[in-house]
Amino acid sequence: MSSLDAAPAAVSFFSLDLEDLKAHIRNQGKESFRAQQLFKWVYEKKVYDPEQMSNLSKDFRTLLPKFFHFELPKVLKHLKSVDGTQKLLFDVGDGLTVEAVLIPSDGRLTLCISSEVGCNMACKFCYTGKQKLKRRLRADEIVGQFLRSQAVLTGDQRITNIVFMGMGEPLDNSDNVFKAIEILHAPWGINFSRRKITVSTSGLVPEMPKITAAKVRLAVSLNAPNDEIRDQVMPINKKYPLKDLLKACVDHCRGTKDKVTFEYVLLKGVTDSLEHAREVVNLVRHVPCKINIIPFNEHPGSDYQRPSDEQVEKFHAELMRLGAHVLLRRTMGRDIFAACGQLTSEFEKKPETMDISNSRIGGRVGKRSSSGQLSL
Ligand code: SAH
Ligand code: SF4
Repeated sequence: MSSLDAAPAAVSFFSLDLEDLKAHIRNQGKESFRAQQLFKWVYEKKVYDPEQMSNLSKDFRTLLPKFFHFELPKVLKHLKSVDGTQKLLFDVGDGLTVEAVLIPSDGRLTLCISSEVGCNMACKFCYTGKQKLKRRLRADEIVGQFLRSQAVLTGDQRITNIVFMGMGEPLDNSDNVFKAIEILHAPWGINFSRRKITVSTSGLVPEMPKITAAKVRLAVSLNAPNDEIRDQVMPINKKYPLKDLLKACVDHCRGTKDKVTFEYVLLKGVTDSLEHAREVVNLVRHVPCKINIIPFNEHPGSDYQRPSDEQVEKFHAELMRLGAHVLLRRTMGRDIFAACGQLTSEFEKKPETMDISNSRIGGRVGKRSSSGQLSL
């Protein structure tokens, strides 16, 4: 365990899979079928207090708190955007925080969750990337973001999609991320469809087969039309250049019969020309994919600018003209600083809300789904 992994604490129930729980129970000399009963209380009935788990023996109930705790990350802040996006700020201890964002669109509700506090990938355009990695989240902290976010929903609202597009590089924290995914999708767990879970990566190529093995969807932050520009804006490209990245994408498509989603951030004067659009289409021509265009979201101290709506429109049109399957999504949650690349921890000062009165949030540009830009 490196110093950037979470300190081992009392075991969180939300970090356990079926085998872990059975083993714990057997070690106490109890019957392992109790594991299924316990999961049912927690994930189906949402009862986290052992005292209320009425079909378990008194003896077993009093034993539980000695081995597990049922605490979830505390919600420090809950902000709501004018467009319906909600952002939750979680306390993950030691003064560290992470954010999750709920994005409503077209009858879907996408939860964008974080995998790390900070990020070591240092992409030049990303606010999270401005902070070095402070800590990798444990599986229970990832599952906890889901459970807490679901709990703030009202009426018959329900999370329909989960995307690992919050803070951090999920493949830099594979063990915890894939453990959390197992708990999210397992029938004994949250029972969330794998096909509604997307892991987004900046391109840690050797770890990408784990996404295929988990049978979840793959999104790749492409963000540049060639190695020269990608080297500049995403340092990871120097280690794993486009040739390797695209091969890993093709392998994923073969393994899952799915398409890859390429995210492409439009940086004014850097990645947004029509020549770049043509290069991108040529680059990904062998990969079954869709391309998700994300106009750059400004943040304090950013070196880049958002292209004009007209330029975004032209780029979009050029991709479509060349036959690419392309999505241009409404930017959601900019007024609460919840859009792509704007998530960060509170240890670095940033405005909590942003004046967007002069910009077009969600200004409609061309044909697209109106879902949040983080969703797929
Ligand atoms: N680390 C993972 C997932 C989190 S980043 C990854 O990089 O894929 C989620 C998405 O936000 C990425 O596609 C990234 O390219 C994009 N992004 C980062 N900063 C942005 C910004 N300032 N404006 C728009 N999109 C940004
Ligand atoms: Fe990390 Fe993703 Fe931001 Fe790059 S874009 S710094 S990988 S969070």
